[in-house]
Amino acid sequence: MNLPRLEIRLNHIRHNAEVLSSRLERQGIAVCGVTKATLGSPEVANELLLAGVASIGESRIENVERLRRGGITAEILLIRSPMMSQAERVIASADLSLNSEKKVIARLSEIAHRQGRRHGILLMVELGDLREGIMPVDLHSFVDYTLSLENLDLRGIGTNLACQSGVIPDDANMGELSDLAASVETDFGITLDLVSGGNSANLNWALAPNHDCGRINHLRLGESILLGCEPTERVPIKGLYGDAISLLGEVIESKVKPSEPRGVRGQTAFGGIDHPSEPPGDRPRIIVALGRQDIDPGGLTPPPDLQILGTSSDHIVLAGASEPPEVGDELRFGLDYSALLRAMTSPFVTKSYLQ
Ligand SMILES: *Cc1c(COP(=O)(O)O)cnc(C)c1O
Repeated sequence: MNLPRLEIRLNHIRHNAEVLSSRLERQGIAVCGVTKATLGSPEVANELLLAGVASIGESRIENVERLRRGGITAEILLIRSPMMSQAERVIASADLSLNSEKKVIARLSEIAHRQGRRHGILLMVELGDLREGIMPVDLHSFVDYTLSLENLDLRGIGTNLACQSGVIPDDANMGELSDLAASVETDFGITLDLVSGGNSANLNWALAPNHDCGRINHLRLGESILLGCEPTERVPIKGLYGDAISLLGEVIESKVKPSEPRGVRGQTAFGGIDHPSEPPGDRPRIIVALGRQDIDPGGLTPPPDLQILGTSSDHIVLAGASEPPEVGDELRFGLDYSALLRAMTSPFVTKSYLQ
């Protein structure tokens, strides 16, 4: 088997998605399974759909197209605002998109008309995290505008917290979204199908015991399904697998070396000047054929007993083990979202799907 290699346990991903979908269903919330960290893997999307998610979410049109080529016919949401320059592809492959600019919405309408298709619009509202979103005072004008355009269906409103500024979803900001949904429905005499409260960072709020989620009936979940953890404090979620995805790398050098470098020291390959201080003396030092081109080094969990000393483009240097691995051995690493995203994107990393 090729190395380095991502091992993706589809049955664990399916389990995680099933557990979250059923817990949220009790709160009246449907799940959109977000596959962006897998680069739009049809294998993963399939498991999510078998687990009962309502739709698939993707941030890039290339990934949406990959899902379609892979046979995914379920509803797909483009969860990043469409690029003007990609409007044709968005209309052709995505069922709905998250929007916050009138110019983009107008373009989507025009292209949908030309292609003889309908396209769903979910209007994103800014509720404190300061990434994408319409200011709440402008929402009614956006609703009015969207309703006036042909070939578009206003499917609902939504927000995204935590990603840019770490703002935590709570009763205050989620209550604001519920109130906005109610006022849009009253003022325009329409029903909003989706009130999309956010991402995995919403889980603590949504699943609090005896909690009333108001009008929120939709969440877009990626990290919690794939990694089994909650992103505001990065704690494992009870009942989910945290090892659904791991990364295997091969040992290319295993020696005993002094722990202190020799010579005058400047910056390292990637600019760091904080050399880690280690206890003096000789210790096992292991090199694995993986690097910054394949992973985000800060997001890698080494095997028990080993410690990551440094990472350059193509080498990870580890120390620690009482029984050091040998050249040719495989070492298994855990990944956070950032390391996963980069490993998925690296052409050097084989993706291996296990049933
Ligand atoms: C990435 C993303 C999500 C999913 O976030 P997770 O933290 O992985 O659950 C949801 N919505 C939007 C707009 C996103 O960009």
